[in-house]
Amino acid sequence: MRRIAVIASLVMVVLVVGIVGARIVDSRQVSRHQFLMGTMIEAKAYGYKANRALDQVYARLAEIEQKMTVNQPGSEIDAVNAAAGRSPVQVSPDTYQVVSKAIAYAALTGGKFDPTIQPIVSLWRIGFPDARVPRPEEITTALPLVGYRGVQLDETRSTVYLTKPGMGIDLGAIAKGYSADEAVAILKQNGVKSGLISLGGNIYVLGNRPDGKPWRIGVQDPVSKRDSFLGIVEIADATLVTSGAYERYLDVDGQRYHHIIDPSTGYPAESDLISATIVTTSSIDADALSTSLFVLGRAQGLALANQLPGIEAILVDKGNFVYVTDGLKDQFTLINQDYQLAK
Ligand code: AMP
Ligand code: MG
Repeated sequence: MRRIAVIASLVMVVLVVGIVGARIVDSRQVSRHQFLMGTMIEAKAYGYKANRALDQVYARLAEIEQKMTVNQPGSEIDAVNAAAGRSPVQVSPDTYQVVSKAIAYAALTGGKFDPTIQPIVSLWRIGFPDARVPRPEEITTALPLVGYRGVQLDETRSTVYLTKPGMGIDLGAIAKGYSADEAVAILKQNGVKSGLISLGGNIYVLGNRPDGKPWRIGVQDPVSKRDSFLGIVEIADATLVTSGAYERYLDVDGQRYHHIIDPSTGYPAESDLISATIVTTSSIDADALSTSLFVLGRAQGLALANQLPGIEAILVDKGNFVYVTDGLKDQFTLINQDYQLAK
């Protein structure tokens, strides 16, 4: 009898210590921010290996940026672009994977999403101090260089070949999504059960919040200043990525030019949308799709989101109507009176 009592009380002690211990470990939060990939990158992680995990996350993000940026010479994308019309260039598995995903989305959207938009993007340079409105002749000259069909991929050799001289790839619409997926994989490898990574408009939440409730993520109000929201989405183990005309733009003579280009015109996409948000589990897909849906516009955008399994969307049109796909309606709350939920 006494032995059973002793064992029982030992079990109790172990249980109590276990629970308290788990609480202490789980609530140990580490958060950090650093400017990378042209944006402020914020990360939060809970758990006893959180610190080490975040070291690895930022190192990995810097590595991805170094491989894929078009804004610094010496990247793999830079090498691919420099060899356009001359020769295939061997790239790392990271870059190969992102380029081939980007080409797949170009095919899916009939070229509305197109990573070969680089010759046009480099004329506008929206988001940089030397941004300008190109002369119409410059656009006409650069436009024939845009077209994903001119990209040749060789999976066995891991090479990318741009078939016309002057062609160029820009992964600005998709690389942050890949980075978010990689960051979350690193958190998981380190046993982190709860965390968040935000790369500009690109967010991934791992698990629930430490209190066991879903994360509440704000959807940016597309016409107001940063960090004011039009609505809140409650999610766990999911990514939320927004593309909007408000993110980067240039104002000239009362005209606003934003950074998302319609590859068929070479000018900022004249979308009926002011923002497109995707919620799903893969951030590379969400990133490619948020840009795609913005260019496609409301009707085609909603049709595409509804056709793809596991993809939810929140679209805001110029009339301030908010369209939410069925699978997300219960998790979305509109909080801003300037907007109205569409029926
Ligand atoms: P995001 O902020 O993810 O919507 O991506 C916008 C960025 O992607 C721009 O700053 C350009 O670098 C690039 N981009 C612009 N237009 C397109 C397009 N139609 N397809 C693919 N990338 C684009
Ligand atoms: Mg994108």
